[in-house]
Amino acid sequence: MESCNEYKSVAMLNVQQVDKAYKQQAVLKQLSLTVQRGEFFGLVGVNGAGKTTLLKTLLDFCAADAGQIEINGQSHLQAQARQDLAFLPEQFMPPWFLSGEAFLRQICQLRDLPYQVAQVHELCQALDLPVTALPKLIRHYSKGMAQKLGLIGCFIQQRPLLVLDEPMSGLDPKARAYLKQYLRQLKQAGHTTVFFSTHLLADVEALCDRMGILHQGQMRFVGTPSECCQQYETDDLEQAYLRCIEAVFTAETTST
Ligand code: ADP
Repeated sequence: MESCNEYKSVAMLNVQQVDKAYKQQAVLKQLSLTVQRGEFFGLVGVNGAGKTTLLKTLLDFCAADAGQIEINGQSHLQAQARQDLAFLPEQFMPPWFLSGEAFLRQICQLRDLPYQVAQVHELCQALDLPVTALPKLIRHYSKGMAQKLGLIGCFIQQRPLLVLDEPMSGLDPKARAYLKQYLRQLKQAGHTTVFFSTHLLADVEALCDRMGILHQGQMRFVGTPSECCQQYETDDLEQAYLRCIEAVFTAETTST
């Protein structure tokens, strides 16, 4: 019983005091963040705020200069820790010389999962990718189709953690609505934690339990979207977001 409670209390993601610099430029500064099991967490911030760097550091694609990161209770430096997650990179570009189906078969093979036609067709339907596109070479796909294929490649793995860098990027409004609906279903099922970066505050409002505003390498706000509105005294999340990052600017200019 005790060990079961212990398991439940382990955060899905635990980032503690992470620093990351590129040459002389500090990109993440003493950044700490936890994402609980089953939580949907949206990371927002202006271009260049450090969102992709945080995701890449988390996945050990680039090394942190300081701090600790745990995924599901294991150090992110252990390859085993990444067994629990599926990742969609920013500007996802699948291998152009494969067909969509061959790409998904490769993913299943890498994860030691059977390729299940019914599951793939269901996901295609859920994300509005015609199944007739699957036998076609990816080089003939549009940007949106490639993005949908990448998302299907993530969902097919059925991992407890999804890390998605701008999952809505390149999707038309219909596909975005479909993806939101699919993510809502995942949320209702309750087996998946989702950590994603986005520029779309409406999606954060619609999907996320909590959000983080990353600005100039630091988390300036972490909480629910309504707490964000409350803290910045507005009903509009976009205004709250602007006030949050403008407060950093004001604090900086008054201190110099
Ligand atoms: P975001 O995803 O929020 O737009 P990034 O994490 O991509 O921000 O970038 C944060 C900062 O780090 C930017 O100033 C960017 O120019 C810089 N940066 C990102 N990747 C590299 C890299 N490989 N080498 C040098 N600088 C980088």
